[in-house]
Amino acid sequence: MRMSTLFVRTLRDDPADAELPGHKLLVRAGYIRRVAPGIYTWLPLGMRVLAKVEAIIREEMDAIGAQEVKFPALLPREPYEATNRWTEYGPNLFKLQDRKENDMLLGPTHEEMFCLAVKDMYSSYKDLPLSLYQIQNKYRDEARPRAGILRGREFIMKDSYSFDIDSAGLQKSYDLHRQAYTKIFNRLGFEYVIVHADSGAMGGSASEEFLAVSPHGEDTFVRDESGYAANVEAVEVPQAPKQQVTVGDSHVEPTPDTPTIATLVDALNAGHPRSDNRPWTAADTLKNVLVMLRQPDGTREPLAIGVPGDRDVDAKRLEAKVSPAEVEPFEEKDFAAYPQLAKGYIGPGALGEDNGIRYLLDPSIAEGSAWVTGADQPGHHVIDLVYGRDFTADGTIQAAEIKEGDPSPSGQGTLSLARGIEMGHIFQLGTKYAEALGLKVLDESGKLTTVTMGSYGVGVTRAVGVIAEDNLDDAGLIWPRTVAPADVHIVATGKDDAVYLKAEEIVRELESLHLEVLYDDRPKVSPGVKFKDAELIGVPTIVVVGKGLADGVVEIKDRRSGERREVPVSSVVGEVLGEINASKA
Ligand code: ATP
Ligand code: MG
Repeated sequence: MRMSTLFVRTLRDDPADAELPGHKLLVRAGYIRRVAPGIYTWLPLGMRVLAKVEAIIREEMDAIGAQEVKFPALLPREPYEATNRWTEYGPNLFKLQDRKENDMLLGPTHEEMFCLAVKDMYSSYKDLPLSLYQIQNKYRDEARPRAGILRGREFIMKDSYSFDIDSAGLQKSYDLHRQAYTKIFNRLGFEYVIVHADSGAMGGSASEEFLAVSPHGEDTFVRDESGYAANVEAVEVPQAPKQQVTVGDSHVEPTPDTPTIATLVDALNAGHPRSDNRPWTAADTLKNVLVMLRQPDGTREPLAIGVPGDRDVDAKRLEAKVSPAEVEPFEEKDFAAYPQLAKGYIGPGALGEDNGIRYLLDPSIAEGSAWVTGADQPGHHVIDLVYGRDFTADGTIQAAEIKEGDPSPSGQGTLSLARGIEMGHIFQLGTKYAEALGLKVLDESGKLTTVTMGSYGVGVTRAVGVIAEDNLDDAGLIWPRTVAPADVHIVATGKDDAVYLKAEEIVRELESLHLEVLYDDRPKVSPGVKFKDAELIGVPTIVVVGKGLADGVVEIKDRRSGERREVPVSSVVGEVLGEINASKA
């Protein structure tokens, strides 16, 4: 690769639409370019990084005996109709029609296709276990494409699928994938955690996510000191045990101008002191949050969620629980349709299936506990309303926000919260897809048995984005050696022909050792610009061949540490090899 001919144009200014530093640098350094929201072109430098990430994934998948295949991205509707995902996938699915008006889609994930291929070709337990994978484009019309390649609408995924005759086999396949993923992410160069995950719309049971730990993450996860870690979506708050009722009859009180929890608590403390003399807090109030659920078929239904007033409803936990329905805000017109609702003063009396609004409570709300909540008339609240005595609900929902310091569901210690980016997801799907598509084989006793499946994904393009976000400084990217677009970046400076001849010689020698070299051979570009470009592009080792050559020396610079040293030109190849080997050790 020579800078004089490489298809790259580095930019001094940040792209206008980029929020995250790594995304800005990937564009500025000429790795990717935006085509449309969430849709990116990969330039030669980017292709090299992508190829290295893919190679690592291939090696580890092959090592567990998975076999590579490639399905089309353009798919017919029927298989997705059979599993109901044509509808359930909702607006994220890219749908189109061919010239004969047949419905088609661009694959968001490929369970159906793998399942059908195995059904086509295999018929006996003797053919199993089997693991297949592909590295291929996926299409999802994400509501919020983000941070360039971190959340794209076209992106590359490694997806694999395991096929077993029974759940013991599935567990084995799952464990093998877990091992392979651990190796892949250890090699890719970012910090990650493995967390319990919600299986969500995919169905199935055991499921874990590999999250890159990052303040830019869209996922929140919890962990405790015992090693328990889970995506907040998957945290199960235990049902609070029944309590003895300790209060008298409930009573409605005027509480004018208290539409928020804070104003209500102030009004309670000012006008309605507690009998036990401690002050009221937000945790004594019951907040009823209304949303609209939109089912995949377009129907809308209201949902009310009761949570202690010191907590919000967590949008991602809620979405995971109601999926495939989507959560929409409860609007003015919805209030108009349910005139029993007094906005800001909604109580359990106006809710529940009898009132046409399903009402679900946070499991921390104990039977027998007393609450202050809306009295269903403007400016009024009800005090000492006891769950189980004065009101009921239609069930519980795990949708309240999880807070730092909450007791851990593991029973050991408290939870701390951090953010992460989902890099991989492993699922024990079970028989959901095999059943829907009729994937059965003969078992040992000659009986037709439904095959049990696992499904496993790695975000390949997302991985490049995460590595970039995790490896950078003010001057540019700093690739880990395992995925760098080149092993060494040779910068020749000045106008002296001897410099370029020598640099050329070093390049050839390094290449003969099968090292990948990016050579800045541009004769008319100033040293300052070349140095800036080298920092921006982020190859781990930079060799400057310039003025020093007159004294028989060149400079080797470590991009990450910034450390630079002069070495005799005669030993530069050995020194570069030494750097590469040292970083591998
Ligand atoms: P997310 O919650 O981030 O949307 P997901 O649960 O939809 O992810 P899966 O369907 O499990 O993701 O896909 C497998 C992997 O593909 C994810 O772990 C992630 O690394 C990657 N991935 C998913 N959606 C995208 C996207 N829009 N852009 C880039 N990579 C993605
Ligand atoms: Mg998604």
